[in-house]
Amino acid sequence: MIKVNQLNKSFGKNHVLKDISFTVNKGDVMAIIGSSGSGKSTLLRCLIDLEKADSGDIIMEGKPLLKDGIYPSPPEIRAIIMKMGMVFQHFNLFPHLTVRQNLELAPKVVKKEETAVMNQRCEAYLNKVGLLERIDAMPSTLSGGEKQRVAIARALMMNPDILLFDEPTSALDPELTGEVLNVMQSLANEHMTMVVVTHEMSFAREVANKVVFMDSGTILEEGSPEDIFIHPQEKRTQEFLSSIL
Ligand code: ATP
Ligand code: MG
Repeated sequence: MIKVNQLNKSFGKNHVLKDISFTVNKGDVMAIIGSSGSGKSTLLRCLIDLEKADSGDIIMEGKPLLKDGIYPSPPEIRAIIMKMGMVFQHFNLFPHLTVRQNLELAPKVVKKEETAVMNQRCEAYLNKVGLLERIDAMPSTLSGGEKQRVAIARALMMNPDILLFDEPTSALDPELTGEVLNVMQSLANEHMTMVVVTHEMSFAREVANKVVFMDSGTILEEGSPEDIFIHPQEKRTQEFLSSIL
């Protein structure tokens, strides 16, 4: 589904992604873990073209978003990233729009979707994340966990083939993380392909089928949750895990 090969990215002299290569298959839940500043967010942002990489390949369902360090035309890029959804740490809901309007904006503007179909899908996704009764609420009246569940429903409205999450529970009070993780677990059960940057080691252990440990801009170690959490090979991985577990 996504194939990344020898991806490099620098901010000035700061070489942030160093020859990153990995594959995400359909139905994978890949957790990316690693210490602050290791390049996790930059990697996700490159995947969805919020950041331009300097060299390498990003191939999404056989189509290059980046090939040998060269980007295709803007319409080709848009066609590729339309199939990807992203959920951010700080929800990024439009504060002046209701929950329904937040969900329906992109389908209306980008896809010119028919109102009745869109309304029905909006209600179905809000129901799925347990928030149908808040459909006319303004974001400011929602809890953090509710905002994040709305953000997930909003991402689903574009029918993405893959969802990217950047620390979706890091801004939440501990008692609210569970409701968001439950929604992500149910998406995983339905075989949604997901790449999740997370500090929630229980999620990485129990929901992900692949875990990637990033350290100083490299993928230092990659494997099953068992490989990474029970039999980490690298000293840095062991140190990282013992510092947070
Ligand atoms: P965290 O766990 O704290 O979110 P991270 O692994 O997501 O960290 P990144 O945000 O990808 O790390 O940052 C990697 C490096 O790139 C850091 O040194 C950071 O300062 C730098 N960086 C990130 N974004 C930019 C930017 N827009 N301009 C300049 N430097 C940046
Ligand atoms: Mg980050």
